[in-house]
Amino acid sequence: MANFYTDNEDISFLFDHMNVARLAGIVEEDFRFAKECDFAPADAKEAVDNYRQILASLGEIAGDRIAPTAEETDKVGNVLNADGSVTYAPGIALAIKLLGQADLMGFTLPYRFGGINCPQLVYTMSNEMISRADASLMNIYGLQGIAETINAFASEEIKQQYLPPMASGKWTGAMVLTEPDAGSDLQSVKVQAYQDDKGNWFVRGVKRFITNGCGEVLLVLARSEPEITDGRGLSVILVERGPKVKIRRLENKLGIHGSPTCEIFFDNAPGLLVGERQRGLITYVMSLMNGARIGIAAQALGIGEAAYRVARDYAHSRRQFDTEIENFPAVRELLIDMNVDVQAARALTYYATFCVDLETGALKQLEFGNVTDKDQAKALKQTSRTYKRLNGMLTPMAKYYASEMSMRVSNGSMAVLGGSGYMKDYPVERYLRDSRITTIYEGTSQLQVVAAVRGVSSGGVDGVMNEVLLNRDWPADLQPTVDKVKEGYALLTEAMAFAKEKGMEYTDLYGRKIVDMAIATIVGALFCDQATGKESKKAVAARWMAVKLPEMRMNKELVCSGDRSAITDFATLAGPVPVLE
Ligand SMILES: Cc1cc2nc3c(=O)[nH]c(=O)nc-3n(C[C@H](O)[C@H](O)[C@H](O)COP(=O)(O)OP(=O)(O)OC[C@H]3O[C@@H](n4cnc5c(N)ncnc54)[C@H](O)[C@@H]3O)c2cc1C
Repeated sequence: MANFYTDNEDISFLFDHMNVARLAGIVEEDFRFAKECDFAPADAKEAVDNYRQILASLGEIAGDRIAPTAEETDKVGNVLNADGSVTYAPGIALAIKLLGQADLMGFTLPYRFGGINCPQLVYTMSNEMISRADASLMNIYGLQGIAETINAFASEEIKQQYLPPMASGKWTGAMVLTEPDAGSDLQSVKVQAYQDDKGNWFVRGVKRFITNGCGEVLLVLARSEPEITDGRGLSVILVERGPKVKIRRLENKLGIHGSPTCEIFFDNAPGLLVGERQRGLITYVMSLMNGARIGIAAQALGIGEAAYRVARDYAHSRRQFDTEIENFPAVRELLIDMNVDVQAARALTYYATFCVDLETGALKQLEFGNVTDKDQAKALKQTSRTYKRLNGMLTPMAKYYASEMSMRVSNGSMAVLGGSGYMKDYPVERYLRDSRITTIYEGTSQLQVVAAVRGVSSGGVDGVMNEVLLNRDWPADLQPTVDKVKEGYALLTEAMAFAKEKGMEYTDLYGRKIVDMAIATIVGALFCDQATGKESKKAVAARWMAVKLPEMRMNKELVCSGDRSAITDFATLAGPVPVLE
């Protein structure tokens, strides 16, 4: 009996260590739902117990039922039928059914629509476990943000119509943004949204690379204002699957074979406007994408965790030169780096999600909490603003770090397994293939760095440091590590000040170095905090800073070098554009 929650010490530890009870109070709106709904918790203790049970039952489904199907799903993939419908791989179809039956497809939706109203943090933990079982399934399970977006922005009528079947798992969704000429730059979306003379909306044009584009509920980003050529001319239209939505092809891709990636032609397909026109990209898609970025970070975590476990197990049993290979220093270092890398990505992703919960919590309280006291309202506004700013930095950071981690760790796992890792006999080659996409969709790593560096530049790291590391007393045995984090923080501050002085282009040129320094600092602080709750985390925190501080010194030197040759000498250094056959 495999259970991906109970067998994962780090997730269980973080669940206990982070203040989940505080989040329960927020999402349960001071437990007012208990009066209306039988299964809503009456207090924080009951809520936290519920979350633990939910994670344990999801962990069992992931470990026992989904993980055993992942290899076959990777082999058979999904099928585009002659009539334009898509048949999921059997493992995917079964998983969606099981998760729906267990009431896990409306994880964060309100009770009144059939959801289980969990905080984002708990949902992120669930996403990690699903991805460990089968990363490609997460692309469908993890699209619950579509329903959240409808819940946050659509009319009550649309919510009533679409959310219950989504919460039950009967219907799934897709976020339909990308076009052949609009990838990273979504402002240039061309697909048209227009109204007939009765005011009904229609969508026309081609979208590509759409995960689960064969789902029933499609949130389509389309140009509703042809005269406005930038993002302000875009709206979100909800289009239901039907004869006017034509799946033209399923992409043939490197990994995540259980996730159908569709090219869609909208042939004047009827739809419904979500929220207000013109706010499609600026408000709704940005909100959807921020949630999805955390989702991809969790997907990457699941892959990294799975890849590390195979490597750890293999190194323990594989013998060469008369001993287990785990006894060779080079293998030990690889394994340790991998394990710390996974924990670092988890620390960052969970912390980012926690902050998202605090931001939405403050907003919710303002909206629905009957706050009459002016000072309280002011404080809530301030809280939501503070966390919004912080999340603008932490979300892309988590997505960037976790996705790059999953590639490093899958690659490291293959190194530990040697030739066996390259073979289909082990799942490591699948993990490596699956991990690659996490650095691309929902915005490539480069785009995450651009977003994160803006947050660092406007003082985001100071906010985290004030909250987590500064202003508190540390136990004596942690003090040396805390001092190293402070030293790293000072290096980052110096590097950031230098880059700012040189301007935006220079800051972007060294964006990755700066963001890497910021992540090293933040994770260092988070590890120190975790070490107050778990003895073994002291070694993890110390190891992290032992490796990261020298890297930070190097990065600081590079950032402060003033070298702009990548920009000024591009033609010489990159060489001429080759003529490809
Ligand atoms: C398997 C898969 C599933 C997907 N699922 C979905 C989905 O469900 N819905 C959806 O709408 N889309 C989806 N996508 C699309 C995905 O989000 C885009 O592929 C991605 O955002 C990158 O866009 P692009 O491919 O057009 O690359 P481009 O935008 O052309 O980027 C090419 C390169 O240029 C770099 N670049 C571009 N702009 C900048 C910049 N300003 N600064 C620095 N570097 C830059 C990029 O980092 C990248 O290295 C999916 C893609 C794949 C492969």
